[in-house]
Amino acid sequence: MAVISALTHRSVELYRKLFPIPCLLCGLPAHKAPLCQACIGELPWLETACPRCAMPLQSAQICGHCLHSPPIQQHSFSLLRYQAAVPRCITRFKFHQQLQFADFFAGHMAKQLQQRQDLPACLIPIPLHPRRLRSRGFNQSLEVATRLAQQLGIRCRPELLQRVRNTPSQSQLHYRQRQRNIRHAFASTAASLPPHVALLDDVMTTGQTVAEAARILQGRGVQIIEVWTIARAISHY
Ligand SMILES: [Zn+2]
Ligand SMILES: [Zn+2]
Repeated sequence: MAVISALTHRSVELYRKLFPIPCLLCGLPAHKAPLCQACIGELPWLETACPRCAMPLQSAQICGHCLHSPPIQQHSFSLLRYQAAVPRCITRFKFHQQLQFADFFAGHMAKQLQQRQDLPACLIPIPLHPRRLRSRGFNQSLEVATRLAQQLGIRCRPELLQRVRNTPSQSQLHYRQRQRNIRHAFASTAASLPPHVALLDDVMTTGQTVAEAARILQGRGVQIIEVWTIARAISHY
């Protein structure tokens, strides 16, 4: 058995040498999909941020904006800053269905979150409207949430939140327009909700989308709401 396993191992190695996986950013051979070690090393990992809204800061303290008007969520976690190669990775994941990124993001998020003792009971991905889901084919937040929940040993419960309005994309809108655009976009028809949940979205910019989802959950009696995102953009209020 050991000989067979050694042979298999060597043939895998040989196969890798002959057909290396190209890094989806630079095209050079990668040890593992989707990115090579050099590109992974250059990603802008978010190290210190405001614990309430995940705004990148020099130290992990509550930011001025959260002190002035605290968001509904008690805690926010974001893996990366939305800059450098990150927008490109997210576009490829979201619009070109490169699902290796779902494994990559979920794996790295799990590494950081699994050290926590007080994980939420479940993870709720920000839903897409059924019409948007049909045209895009998949919900990027659901793909990450499923994998992340599995690695953390918590439940992924997309059925707890529904998108009831098909709103235009937030990305081209200003702060006030975003607020109006997303209002009443979500609903929860679940009979009961757990007291502690985390919402999962791909990118957090002004935080209006997660704020509206959190408002619905809070209205339904959820006591502790967290917001987990792949990347945090610096918002200009
Ligand atoms: Zn690369
Ligand atoms: Zn903050």
